[in-house]
Amino acid sequence: MTDSPSYSALREHNRVTAALIADPEVTGDLLLVGMWLARATILRDPPPGEGRWSFTSIAGALFGHGRPLTITGMGATTRVPNYLVARVKQAVRADRPHYDPDRDNAADPWMHLPCRAPMIRREGECGQHGTMYDYLTDLTTGRQVRIAACRRHKPWYDHQVVTNREAVRDAGDRLPRPAANAGGALARHIGGVNWPRIWQMVDPHWTPPPEGASTRKPTLRVLRNDDFEPSEDRPAPRLVVHEGGWR
Ligand SMILES: [Zn+2]
Repeated sequence: MTDSPSYSALREHNRVTAALIADPEVTGDLLLVGMWLARATILRDPPPGEGRWSFTSIAGALFGHGRPLTITGMGATTRVPNYLVARVKQAVRADRPHYDPDRDNAADPWMHLPCRAPMIRREGECGQHGTMYDYLTDLTTGRQVRIAACRRHKPWYDHQVVTNREAVRDAGDRLPRPAANAGGALARHIGGVNWPRIWQMVDPHWTPPPEGASTRKPTLRVLRNDDFEPSEDRPAPRLVVHEGGWR
């Protein structure tokens, strides 16, 4: 920190940090990375530049165990082990906005899926306990749907799986891409970061998924001092000691 942060910046930092901790989708390494980013982007600690906001620098700060950290800008000299840098990247990669079929099908647990094979001598489906499971692609939405079958209906099941794979192959690029239903958690809290570029750095194949209900665009936050602006109703603020807690 080159200068003492403003009171509004400290308040914003406390607010974002508390929100990160309260977010059930921000846990483990992702929470650590989020807290590092909150401090960097809001308090400018460390200030950007010379590789200080790099994955390597973050890894050194979070997991470096006090190892000496030497960074000399581009062509950086660093002693942070690669596996620690990979750990930071993996946390960010897992949080890139993406479609997660397991989350999409959370209401239909594998173990409870009944056999869906149509019956010949009666109306309806078999309904026996499934013993083989897979995903089929819904060709109209691109979403994954779970399928199960009992042992007796293996031929029906195999046929469903094979024909679906062929249809997906035939559709090629015409197959719709489902909206992201996972990831993007840090971007909800941390503004002022070029998230799409970051996500491409950790996943070269990443492209923005179509807009979905479950992902929100990152919002850029403007730091203001609403609560403490002097007005005729309120006395001018006094300088107080900020104790660094969350109040
Ligand atoms: Zn069956």
